[in-house]
Amino acid sequence: MKANHRQEKRQFERLFEKEGIDKVEDRMAILEVFLGVEQHMSFQELATLLENKGLDFEPDFVKKTLNLLCRYGFASKRKFEGQPTLYEHRYLGSHHDHLICTKCKKIVEFENPQMETLQLEIASFHGFHVLQHKMEMYGLCSDCLRERVSLTPLSYAREGESGVIEDFTGGSAAQLRLATMGLRRGDEVEVITNKGEGQLVVAVNATRLAMGRGVAAKIMVKPNGRRKDLQ
Ligand SMILES: [Zn+2]
Ligand SMILES: [Zn+2]
Ligand SMILES: [Zn+2]
Repeated sequence: MKANHRQEKRQFERLFEKEGIDKVEDRMAILEVFLGVEQHMSFQELATLLENKGLDFEPDFVKKTLNLLCRYGFASKRKFEGQPTLYEHRYLGSHHDHLICTKCKKIVEFENPQMETLQLEIASFHGFHVLQHKMEMYGLCSDCLRERVSLTPLSYAREGESGVIEDFTGGSAAQLRLATMGLRRGDEVEVITNKGEGQLVVAVNATRLAMGRGVAAKIMVKPNGRRKDLQ
């Protein structure tokens, strides 16, 4: 355990005893597990971790302890869009911001002094005194981006090429239409006819389907590199 973790545990112990909070020893065990994982974690993830370590606490007790950790400045609560509430270790006197991948939910932390200064400058220009701020950027992480680049719309695939359907773009109406056509993620699709304009004919699950280019453009395929000889 890092030196500052030991120090924090002592602070926590002293503070809780002073505040008359009960079951300090159990709460210490939770703190120790929490500090042992330097990442953003949900209540559920912490509960699973405790369970795996053979620490059997009531969920309510774990939840209350997490809230105490937040109240006394040992943890911070984060609420990112599309994710459960996450908790992270709070380092006194330091600050960081987040990049959040909307696909795989990965969270990247960053610190940028110029960005911090610029934000204060902007605020003061507007006569604003900043008490706190959150900078969250949402998008695709480098891994997800790499995966996406390798995808191609079905309308671009050439005759004889085949691949696996990975994703559908377009709104829910378009997705519904594709589902009605019997197309699902993970299906293998082969292009029978694609003249570069007009309809495409494809084979999916041993069925031939004719579809417009607009529809085909919404189907994202990972080419499998196989190309059947045309007959
Ligand atoms: Zn910041
Ligand atoms: Zn990602
Ligand atoms: Zn963080």
